[in-house]
This record gives sequence, structure tokens and C-alpha cells, in this order.
Amino acid sequence: MNKTVFIIVDGMADLPIKRLGNKTPLDYAIKNNLYNFLKYSELAYPNVLGKLAPQSDAGVMANLSYDPLVYSTGRGWFECLGLGLAPKSGELSVRVNFGSVSKGKLKDIRVYLSQDEIEDIINEINNNIHLSVSFDLKAGVGYRAGLVLRSGKMPFSHFVSNNEPGYTARFFGSKVKLSFASGIKDFRIKKIKPMKNEARYTAEVLNEFVYKASEIIKKSKTYKTRLKKGMPVPNYLFLRDSSDHDPELENINKKYNRKWAAITGMPLEKGIAESLGMSVIKMEELPNVEEDLRKKADQVGKVLSKFDAVYLHIKQPDSFSHLGKFIDKYAAIEKIDRIIISKLYKELDSKNDTLVLTCDHATSSEFKRHLNSNIPVLISNRKFDYHHNFSEFACSKEGNKKIKKAIDIMPFVMNL
Ligand SMILES: [Zn+2]
Repeated sequence: MNKTVFIIVDGMADLPIKRLGNKTPLDYAIKNNLYNFLKYSELAYPNVLGKLAPQSDAGVMANLSYDPLVYSTGRGWFECLGLGLAPKSGELSVRVNFGSVSKGKLKDIRVYLSQDEIEDIINEINNNIHLSVSFDLKAGVGYRAGLVLRSGKMPFSHFVSNNEPGYTARFFGSKVKLSFASGIKDFRIKKIKPMKNEARYTAEVLNEFVYKASEIIKKSKTYKTRLKKGMPVPNYLFLRDSSDHDPELENINKKYNRKWAAITGMPLEKGIAESLGMSVIKMEELPNVEEDLRKKADQVGKVLSKFDAVYLHIKQPDSFSHLGKFIDKYAAIEKIDRIIISKLYKELDSKNDTLVLTCDHATSSEFKRHLNSNIPVLISNRKFDYHHNFSEFACSKEGNKKIKKAIDIMPFVMNL
């Protein structure tokens, strides 16, 4: 069977930036290897979530043809699944961030911790907290963790608010849940609120967890050491995107009659891939961009012989956008070209195989947040003709009008 490599570069699309000569980072980046794929290519410029600015969960689901407005039951499900917490329907899966508050107001939305530090704090919480429910809390990377409430006196419900400022939970119908970055207007720390009567117990348990865990953090070795050194200290847990049931997504291998593998180091994306029935290759994100990309390029080479299709997720451009580092962003795109795209040019059979390069959403490096802009898509296959460039502008001008929404990309590609 012909091979397909589907690359999602997190937050790759952007707005024109003055200091880049009014080009976007994608447009500005030198992409010598990509021209090999542009020789036979189709472009598209679909919308992801209408007027809403998607988070990565919604963006990735849409890229892979699963409409988030139909299937999402909350990002927490995927996060906890990707962390290896094996959530079940009826349990409550929650994304947790370590941050800090001062006098009831937000101080740091994220406190970056080393792996040893976050694990020290989480051990401390797991060993010393007394709750009326059973739970598992597991460390992610940096400031991230996953929490699963296993069983309580009453059923759990995901109809609760987030206590993380800047993220608003929205519900669509009786099951669908998504959350959106709303920007931080109010810095006061609020309790988690039930949005329906059935969620009162859940909100109560979550607030108890936040209160007790935040007190325990202050007794940890990490907290005391960082305080002594004058480093930022985490003293509060921000919870968001809780999910109370399996989204039960259709198996992608059956849907498209292909055997899929996923290459990503991020728990969210691992969780989405696992939900779809992809074989998730075991790996972690590496802090050095080049090393991380080299490892992923190696992995693609290895799995291509065993699978028909590979979903490859690359995180760095989104992280740089959130930090406002547009130079690092275009440099990361150039590294993707040099390391990943060049490797794929060697590995893929240009007569038969297909390469897709796109992103889950646009992230503005100027405003440091996700946008509701359309996303650029490159589909390279022998059936198509030449395009001169891959950029937001080129895609908006020359894009295939049949691919209107991000969920249209995959059916188009799988029918080639
Ligand atoms: Zn993203």
C-alpha cells in the first residue's frame, strides 16, 4: 500500500510580523527541502472551529477528521490517557497545572519545574493528602500533571468550571465539552463551580483536592529549596478540562483501512492517537529542538516499513509562539525542513506516497495566543502540479476550495 505521512506542526501558522518584513514565520523560513514536495502539491486553507480559537485538542481532532464539536468530551480524557493513567467512563480525568497565587490573586499561571521537582511534589501530595475519593495524580512535563478521580460517594460529572484563569469551559449539547483560551481579565482566584446540579459533588471534591494539595506543596522539599534560592515557587493547582466519559472515537485504522502509527512526545497528542487506535510509539519530548527532531526523523524512518500511515506531531513552534519568540519559531520551522522533511524525501517513494504538512491552529507570536485563523495545508502527491511556496498567503490564494474545514483534509488525502 502507498504510504502517508501526516505532519501536524503545533501552532505553526501565524500573522505577518513587521520585523520579518511583514511575513509570517512559515513564509519567512527557508524551506529548501520542502520544494521537493511542492513540485507535486495541492494547497488548502481550511477553517478549524469557525469563529472560535481552537486549543490543540480540538485542532488535532479536526486535522485527523474527528469533529471536536461532535466528539470532544473534554481534553482531560486525552491528557490522562496519554500520561498512562488509563481513565474509564464514570471516572473524572482532569488536566492539572502547577502555578502560584498571592493574596487570592494569580501570580504565575505556570511554574516550570524539573522532572525531579514535579515528581517530588506529586509524591508528597499522593502520600499525604486525605480525600474521601480514590484518585491518581501523575506528573507530566514542566508544570503539567494529570489527575483521575476513580470513585466517590456519588457519580462524577464534567459539568464544572475550570479554576485556571484564562480558560473557559463550554458545553455543546448534553455531552460535548471544549475549553477555550479567553485571555485573563480577572486575576482573582475562583473556586470550581458546578454548571449543573448533577456536578455539585464533583465541584466539591475538586475544590477540596485543590485546597489540600496546595497546602501540601508548601511542605515539599522542592518548595522549600526553591524559596531559599529565590526561585518561583508553585503553591496552587489549576484544574481544567475535566472529562467524565470516553469519547468513543471510531478506530482510524478501520475508518480508512490503513494501519496507523503516531510519533509524538506530548501526552495530549499521545492520548488522541491512542483513542483513535493508532500504535503510539514510545517516546518523550527532548528539550533540545534539533535532538528532538532528529529522534523523530529516525522514528519515522523505522516505522514507515511497518505501517501504512504515520501521524507525526511537532510541538516547538507553538511553544515559541506562546513565549513571543518569533525568531525561534521560524528557526524551528527551518530545522523541521532540514531534519524532518529532508529525511522524508529520502524515505518516501515520490511516485506513490503522500506527505501532508499542516498545523492544529494558528498561534500568534505577537499576541502569544491561539487564533481562529484558517490553517495552511500542503498535500504532496504525484497527482498534483507545482506550487511555488507554502505559506498562509499561498494557501489562501491557491488553496483547493473543496477543503473548507480541517475535518475535510483527511478524507481528501485518504482518497488519493
Ligand atoms: Zn496546538
